[in-house]
Amino acid sequence: MKSIEMKNICKNYGKVAVVKELNLTVKSGEKLILLGPSGCGKSTILRMIAGLEEITSGELHLGGRKVNHLGSGERNVSMVFQNYALFPHMTVEDNITYGLRINKVCGDEIRRRKNDVMKMLELSGLEKRKPRELSGGQRQRVALARAVAKQSCFLLLDEPLSNLDVQLREHARKELVRIHEKFGQTMVYVTHDQTEAMTVGDRIALFSEGMVQTLDTPLNVYNRPANVFTAKFIGSPSCNIIETKGEGGGVAIGNQVFSLNGSWANLLRGKHDLYFGIRPEHIELSEEPRANSIKGSVRYCENYGHKTSVFIANDGIEFAASVEETRFYPGETVYMTFPQDKIHFFDKKTGCNAGYPENISRSCENDPLYKRRIA
Ligand code: ADP
Ligand code: MG
Repeated sequence: MKSIEMKNICKNYGKVAVVKELNLTVKSGEKLILLGPSGCGKSTILRMIAGLEEITSGELHLGGRKVNHLGSGERNVSMVFQNYALFPHMTVEDNITYGLRINKVCGDEIRRRKNDVMKMLELSGLEKRKPRELSGGQRQRVALARAVAKQSCFLLLDEPLSNLDVQLREHARKELVRIHEKFGQTMVYVTHDQTEAMTVGDRIALFSEGMVQTLDTPLNVYNRPANVFTAKFIGSPSCNIIETKGEGGGVAIGNQVFSLNGSWANLLRGKHDLYFGIRPEHIELSEEPRANSIKGSVRYCENYGHKTSVFIANDGIEFAASVEETRFYPGETVYMTFPQDKIHFFDKKTGCNAGYPENISRSCENDPLYKRRIA
């Protein structure tokens, strides 16, 4: 049992509450992502788990044992720091093996682990270099190698790939997942990058201002965002969120009416002040009007090669649509179709998701990918 349990954890710096009443359990062997904008408290949470930052109140349990008062060395954790924290006077191999030597791991085993991680993270040949003789990306990989070589039960990663270039980041992301499959540690992975969160995580805890906004699997976070903040945070361009009002079997989109099918109309009956949401990639565009389409005017386009983001204005409302076609140009009139199985509604007061007509449970246990990864 290698779970991490955070019970009512608060962290204050002076009078400022940085983490507020955090209740979060990371299951044994799980990869949990802490995602959120800069300054929302992610590193602070990781450092509290590692024993590097005092917990103001609440309880932290590692493997079922309360560890609030244990030092970092007694928690069986390894951590990759955002700024690497390598020993500047030691060579790469000494940095990687230092912790193992302190823990009196035998020489053969140290050599085996060192060679394994150096190969895995493409560091071979750099054994004798000092950190100052490495690029930022190489330093980050040494920090990662050092943490992996420790083979601790709990692996804590603070933005471990943020300084790698795009290709290396993709490679390292896959390697990390592979390392995890091999060692099965319980992993807490901090990032502000939604792609890393979606691709690495078994579950994502999305934070804002020291509080969890959402805790769910990547697929559920994308398909059924719990609130407006979550809907907008995941996805690029971000989910279109439009203020709307119920309008006789439909909803107002600017001066036009988008008709809802019977099950949506039933679900939203009596709910008036809402946000309408649709992801850019779910909008269909056409030059001619279609049944229930909404008219707009193309403002500008961004071409990515495999897709084009088309920005469309309508009665003062801006939409972003991502389509494969490149045939839309600024100034043209277009018609947007919103498939009924791809739309979302949120309560305007609370920002919470207003639900979906089909009775599909939101629990992550029903997410087939999650079922496969976490037994
Ligand atoms: P994140 O990792 O999500 O970017 P951090 O956990 O580093 O955020 O920081 C959360 C908040 O706590 C920030 O507003 C930051 O300025 C503040 N903070 C972090 N460390 C300290 C400290 N040692 N003293 C005072 N405030 C701090
Ligand atoms: Mg941070």
